[in-house]
Amino acid sequence: MQKIENYINGQLVAATSGEYLENVEPATGKVYSLIPESNSEDLDAAVAAAEAIQTDWANTSLEKRAEILCRLADLIDANADELAEAEAIDNGKAISFAKAVDIYRSSANIRFFAHAGTQFASESHAMGNLAINYTLRDPIGIVACISPWNFPLYLFTWKIAPALASGNVVIAKPSEVTPMTAYLFSKLCVEAGLPAGVLNILHGSGQSIGGPITTHPKIKAISFTGGSATGAHISKVTAGMFKKLSLELGGKNPTLVFADCDLEETVNEVVKAAFSNQGQICLCGSRIYIERPIYEQFKTAFIAKVKALRIGDPLDPKTQHGATVSEAHMNKVLSYIELAQQEGGTILTGGKRHIENGRCQNGYFIEPTVIEGLDNQCRTNQEEIFGPVCSIMPFDKEQEAIQLANGTEYGLAASVWTNDLKRAHRVAKSIEAGIVWINCWLLRDLRTPFGGVKSSGVGREGGLEAMRFFTEPKNVCIKY
Ligand code: NAD
Repeated sequence: MQKIENYINGQLVAATSGEYLENVEPATGKVYSLIPESNSEDLDAAVAAAEAIQTDWANTSLEKRAEILCRLADLIDANADELAEAEAIDNGKAISFAKAVDIYRSSANIRFFAHAGTQFASESHAMGNLAINYTLRDPIGIVACISPWNFPLYLFTWKIAPALASGNVVIAKPSEVTPMTAYLFSKLCVEAGLPAGVLNILHGSGQSIGGPITTHPKIKAISFTGGSATGAHISKVTAGMFKKLSLELGGKNPTLVFADCDLEETVNEVVKAAFSNQGQICLCGSRIYIERPIYEQFKTAFIAKVKALRIGDPLDPKTQHGATVSEAHMNKVLSYIELAQQEGGTILTGGKRHIENGRCQNGYFIEPTVIEGLDNQCRTNQEEIFGPVCSIMPFDKEQEAIQLANGTEYGLAASVWTNDLKRAHRVAKSIEAGIVWINCWLLRDLRTPFGGVKSSGVGREGGLEAMRFFTEPKNVCIKY
């Protein structure tokens, strides 16, 4: 059985505990590799390695840092097929999606921030003929990057790249549910010539290694993406330690479909918004509000498209809808479908576990599920399900749609479908979210601020926001 290894001080090593967690392929339900269960001892070794190279890396020229990072991005591209297959096996996502989205974005993230590092500049503030202030932006030092399972390599690189590009040394922890591509990535780091200790990757559970990382006194900043409950826990345990925190958390995103939208295009895109990656994207639109005059027409076209999604083996290039990430997660999602019915919802399509034939007969597949007839306040419409389940509801007035959209504790993203320009601006301004898409969904420019409000998080990633998060500003005031 393949054993995944930690990456500490440039070396691939076992965890000191000698303990392993089982890594399951969600499409088959079989254990296919072992994950080192790291602990504080491994963390201390990683922190020591990071500390030893911290000054050198901070003083490495911007060009040199960018050169190494671009080499890493090139290596991801050169190994894209292998990485996409590994992601599909580890996560259950369709391989075509893994290649086009996950792996494509992983190298794009690194290349983007390699260049951002060479172009990042700080401000100066002149005080007439009295004085000049300039802002130094130094790397923070040792920072932590903790990522979830839904986009394993994509979100891992999204954090690591700006941290490294701005001169920090990094302790990174991928999700223990999907560790494989982070492991393959550590091998690419060795190949790219990333100096030992600059990046250290520790595998294992949140309890055994995530917790110690967040409270380690030498780690001065934490960039975390994951569930809101974990984010709240990290805020609590680090309170009083004065660490910089960036928290990208859960979502329960609204999709607002107005009667004047381009119906066919909207249906196609709203299906993607609800079900891409088996609905396991923090940005997925799981509450779909449709203006009443087109409700029935939209519903018919939407259900037809959802029924046509090809469920199957993630390794089949034709598959559009793969397995959910784990048995526990599948059961959680199925329990919400059960709850939705108890809450008065009607299942329009889906609603059950999907059983595949052959290799994937024990896989954790769930039929894409559409529910109608639910009240906005019910748990199905309030809590993050994070699976292939959406709820459709009619509305009559724009103001009502905005209220419904804003009526949860979350505020990550929204999409609005309309051809009325004024309405598009009005609604975008009124929605409580960090990201609003008009007539599109998941269209990403890496320079834009990314993150949420309310229980969806604190802080922003992307572009300058990330470069600022990973640097400490210092004002120098010089009197003339
Ligand atoms: P999770 O919170 O369970 O785990 C995320 C990471 O935190 C994992 O690496 C985990 O091991 C680690 N962790 C767990 N407990 C920890 C602790 N006590 N201390 C430190 N680290 C700990 O989340 P998940 O189930 O992996 O991911 C799904 C969630 O992530 C969903 O809620 C989803 O909306 C959210 N998400 C948000 C974004 C975003 O950008 N806002 C993007 C993707 C996913």
